[in-house]
Amino acid sequence: MTVLIPDELRKIREKTELGQRLNEAEALQLLECGDLNGLGQLADEANRRKNGDRASYILNRYFNYSNYCILSCQFCAFSRKRRDADGFELAVADMVQKAREALSIGITELHIVGGLHPSLPFSYYTDMIRELKAVDKRLQLKCFTAIEILHLAWLAKKPVPEVLGEFRSLGLDSLTGGGAEIFRQEVRDRIARGKETAEEYLDVHRTWHKLGGRSTCTMLFGHLETLEDRVDHMRQLRELQDETGGFTGFIPLPYQPDNNGIPVEHSPDGFDMLRTIAVARLYFDNVDHITAYWVGMGLKLAQVALSHGADDLHGTILEEKIFHMAGADTPQRQTENDMIHAIREAGRVPVQRDTLYEPIREWAGEEALAKG
Ligand code: SF4
Repeated sequence: MTVLIPDELRKIREKTELGQRLNEAEALQLLECGDLNGLGQLADEANRRKNGDRASYILNRYFNYSNYCILSCQFCAFSRKRRDADGFELAVADMVQKAREALSIGITELHIVGGLHPSLPFSYYTDMIRELKAVDKRLQLKCFTAIEILHLAWLAKKPVPEVLGEFRSLGLDSLTGGGAEIFRQEVRDRIARGKETAEEYLDVHRTWHKLGGRSTCTMLFGHLETLEDRVDHMRQLRELQDETGGFTGFIPLPYQPDNNGIPVEHSPDGFDMLRTIAVARLYFDNVDHITAYWVGMGLKLAQVALSHGADDLHGTILEEKIFHMAGADTPQRQTENDMIHAIREAGRVPVQRDTLYEPIREWAGEEALAKG
């Protein structure tokens, strides 16, 4: 591994301080950097310039409407076929019940994705959004990955812009960023054959942004990709962000190795996770927020990431299946106090945010720690 000499770090610091954009060669050099402390410090400075001392979390609840899927992405431990005993699908009424329960404990966002279901009609999805929004219009809905949108457009026999427009008018607040994996097709073919191409992923988000919608973006890392592939992936996201400005945040997702067909035995190690977050912060000069996803990296390392460029810990989640079926050994949920405590211990001011990263409450004092 190359150790970046201090002169080079200084050059990159000068560029970022002047607001100059890092190029792909510099991003690659940083991903190869052996000086995690130096890199983390640069990323921390870049983060503080954007977000000050604040770090955010969201009170959210995950659930999946179904794990039946017509695809069989090689890395996926979540999807099931009809013949499988542990396949499931939720009725809209079940989801409404989950939404009511979530609201009663202060949840502000439902995060809902599923497999590409073989037979549910398009009306199931429109009913889902309409009825969940009817529970309380303040409950924000962050639903569907790009491949689900393509599947639903195919199902409805409608163009993608029409489907997205329909969901937006029914109250969908944000698309999720899931499904980006790694854009380079050769890697995609080995981990998620049959899934949408990079161009298709980007085009769904582009269309959504042009309709006024917002979304997050992701990168699944630590499997078969090279560091060049990570840079190429981030480059394509940064270019779309230059075009639309519609990404609210970037969420690097550490690969989970269990129960799938990919010949990789381990998740990326802690250094790799922190380095990737730091480089993302430095490279994405046009994305405001970088999330340390505790489900994949553990809350303690996510907390450390708050001094390596991340400014967001994601959410309380309550019920996560996709990462845990692939081997994540993290808990299913965090309490609000866990998140506030983790952020305070990292020397930051905790901010409860909404789906669009707008602040709901800033915890300047100690009051939250008394809550259950
Ligand atoms: S990753 Fe998504 S599209 Fe691929 S098999 Fe799993 S559920 Fe289906």
